[in-house]
Amino acid sequence: MTVVAIRVVPDPLLRQKSKRVRIIDGSIQKLINNMRETMHSIGGVGLAAPQIGVPLRVIVIGIPGEEDIALINPEIVRRTGERLVDEGCLSVPGYIGQVKRAVSVRVKGRDQNGKEIRIKADELLAQVLQHEIDHLNGMLYIDYLESMDELRKIEPEVTEL
Ligand SMILES: [Zn+2]
Repeated sequence: MTVVAIRVVPDPLLRQKSKRVRIIDGSIQKLINNMRETMHSIGGVGLAAPQIGVPLRVIVIGIPGEEDIALINPEIVRRTGERLVDEGCLSVPGYIGQVKRAVSVRVKGRDQNGKEIRIKADELLAQVLQHEIDHLNGMLYIDYLESMDELRKIEPEVTEL
C-alpha cells in the first residue's frame, strides 16, 4: 500500500465529475487500499478518489471505532431531515465551516468485490457519505457557504473529511 499526496484547492481535478467504475478489478482494489492507507495516515475519516488524483467514483470511510467502508459508484437514494454541522475537508486544509446536511441518508453502491451494498446512515456517517459523494461530483463543502468569510481557521488536529 502507498500513501498518496492529497490534492488541495484550487486543484482543477477536485472540480471534475468523476467517472463511474465499469470493471471492479485488481487496479480498483489497489486504489482502495491506497486510499485507506492515505486516509488513516493523516487521520481523516473519509476520502474520495479525486482527492488523490484519480477521477473515479470510489470513496472510503474510516470512522474511529467502526469498520472501514469502501464504496464504488455510490449514490444517495434518500435523504431525510436537515441539520447544521461543522465540516472540514482534507483538500481545504486548516479551515472549517458550518453547512446544512441531511440527518439520515440511504446510499447504494458496490463493495470492492463488486457486491451490491446498501447503507442506512445517520449523523456522522451520513455527513461523511454526503461529503465524499459530493467530491465525486466536483463539489466541496465550501460551495454551500454564502461567503468564504464564513470559514473559520482550525487547529491541525481537528478531524477533516
Ligand atoms: Zn473532503
